[in-house]
Amino acid sequence: MKVVDHIKSAKGKTLFSFEILPPVKGQSIQSIFDAIDPLMEFKPPFIDVTYHREEYVYKKHPNGLLEKVSTRKRPGTVGICSAIMNKYQVDAVPHIICGGFTKEETENALIDLDFLGVDNVLVLRGDAIKTEGSFVPEPDGHNYAVDLLQQVMGLNQGAYIHEEVQGSKTNFCAGVAGYPEKHFEAPNLNADIRFLKQKIDLGAEYIVTQMFFDNSRYFEFVDKCRDAGITVPIIPGLKPLATKRQTTVLPSIFHVDLPEDLVNGVEKCKDNAQVREVGVEWCIQQSKELQEKGVPCLHYYTMSKSASIKKIASALF
Ligand code: FAD
Repeated sequence: MKVVDHIKSAKGKTLFSFEILPPVKGQSIQSIFDAIDPLMEFKPPFIDVTYHREEYVYKKHPNGLLEKVSTRKRPGTVGICSAIMNKYQVDAVPHIICGGFTKEETENALIDLDFLGVDNVLVLRGDAIKTEGSFVPEPDGHNYAVDLLQQVMGLNQGAYIHEEVQGSKTNFCAGVAGYPEKHFEAPNLNADIRFLKQKIDLGAEYIVTQMFFDNSRYFEFVDKCRDAGITVPIIPGLKPLATKRQTTVLPSIFHVDLPEDLVNGVEKCKDNAQVREVGVEWCIQQSKELQEKGVPCLHYYTMSKSASIKKIASALF
């Protein structure tokens, strides 16, 4: 079932959903089930599975020379989606990205997902490879999420890359990303929202936001989106702080602000166990206010660790 249909059938009740990461290569899928199992009592109608592109590592040869090799540390997104749908009978939402994919490879991945009965995709550009300064598309790949979305929407109309293929139509519900505090490359928030609107006009049916720690940023973003003519559901993405280090790491990776009160609270903590308590309490307060305002769904970034999310969900659902 499509994410937007889950939202419609909830008839105004706020849904609970979350995102997991594929395990690091070499770990079994049990680590994913261990993260999901404790959260199933809160009845998530869908679970997102992130996609992680290749990165470069240096392999040392016996002669001392280093070879730069490309590797994907967290493969398995499609397989995990299929396993989730089989084991839990809930919808899985694979993230699909432009980075590292040619159009042909994207088409083949979408065909696989369609055959597996996956109805949803979260369509993203993806970030630059860690060791590269800026995003570089494949020679025959997509530059922006909007271009990838166009391919997904085309396939929903039966348009395959090679025109001689008379295609059956896929039926994907596509979500896209939104940034209450602006995507870091956008010159300003209005420009970012203009590009977001292009994705909605092309057929994206809902938006999931980047994490934020101050609800007023989300509410202002939603107002601006509505003013720009974006009417689709805007699902807030939330993450509880878990370590002291995150007060500097999250702003640098995700380009988000942490409110002073939250940072002050974390600074007083003796260890990360106390930080987790502060993070959970902050996230509960954020979630309660969002729920009271009638957001369609509360979507949590779990990093595949469920203990904090379980405490938050217990206070709300
Ligand atoms: P885009 O929509 O392509 O936007 C990228 C930048 O280009 C923005 O600054 C935008 O304003 C600008 N822009 C957009 N269209 C145009 C245009 N036509 N012309 C000029 N400028 C334009 N990354 C992963 O690798 N894997 C994941 O699983 C993943 N999951 C995510 C889930 C969520 C909910 C979010 C919020 C992010 C996720 N990301 C993931 C990170 C995401 O890939 C990065 O933030 C990436 O840098 C931008 O992706 P996007 O889809 O927003 O890109």
